[in-house]
Amino acid sequence: MKRFLVAVGLCLTVLTKPLAAQQAPAATPAKPEVQTQGSQTAMTPAAALERLKEGNLRFVSNTPKQHDWRAQVSATAAGQFPFAAILGCMDSRVPIEIVFDQGIGDVFGVRVAGNVVNDDELGSLEYAVKVGTKLIVVLGHTSCGAVKGAIDDVKMGHLTGLLAKIHPAVAAASCGSSKDEACVTTVAELNVRQAVKEIREKSPYLRKYLDEGKVGLVGGVYDVATGKVTFLGN
Ligand SMILES: [Zn+2]
Repeated sequence: MKRFLVAVGLCLTVLTKPLAAQQAPAATPAKPEVQTQGSQTAMTPAAALERLKEGNLRFVSNTPKQHDWRAQVSATAAGQFPFAAILGCMDSRVPIEIVFDQGIGDVFGVRVAGNVVNDDELGSLEYAVKVGTKLIVVLGHTSCGAVKGAIDDVKMGHLTGLLAKIHPAVAAASCGSSKDEACVTTVAELNVRQAVKEIREKSPYLRKYLDEGKVGLVGGVYDVATGKVTFLGN
């Protein structure tokens, strides 16, 4: 019996030693990829747009980056240096950071039903540019409830005034049914173009940066069925 126990002990020693030897020393945590003042300064409007396009491609192909959220929280606690500001709709199907596969501290998100422009959004975008953002994106989307409400001329509390901002796009689209998805998409796109125009026209502060080419401004439409963002040309 004693001999048997010794044999078992030897076996365990042989088995456990290599396992212990295989244990790698505690890995140094990878430095989280977050925006820094340096990366923000080095970013150009064109590079910022490219980064969003690449992020959306990763999202669409279901190959997002691995985000260490906890590490990014720590790495951005002392300050933020976002490279883009995105004015998007409040729609729950269009979460900005997710559809562009961006992390904490990467982009400013300004969200309001129908991605309309008013003084508060303009002030937010002006702040974004003031702190170094290189690109402003207005992001509309297909099947937008605010756009449908504007087409149907819905009147309801404070929503009435918000939807009125989309009415010029409805009038320009010359189509009259919120059940017509193509019509809804057309109005959404025209509404984005309207917002892009208003940002330039209504904010002398932003216009200066845009005219100097220091900041870019582009519209886009997100497809809720495919996840793809189509950026609009001029
Ligand atoms: Zn919407």
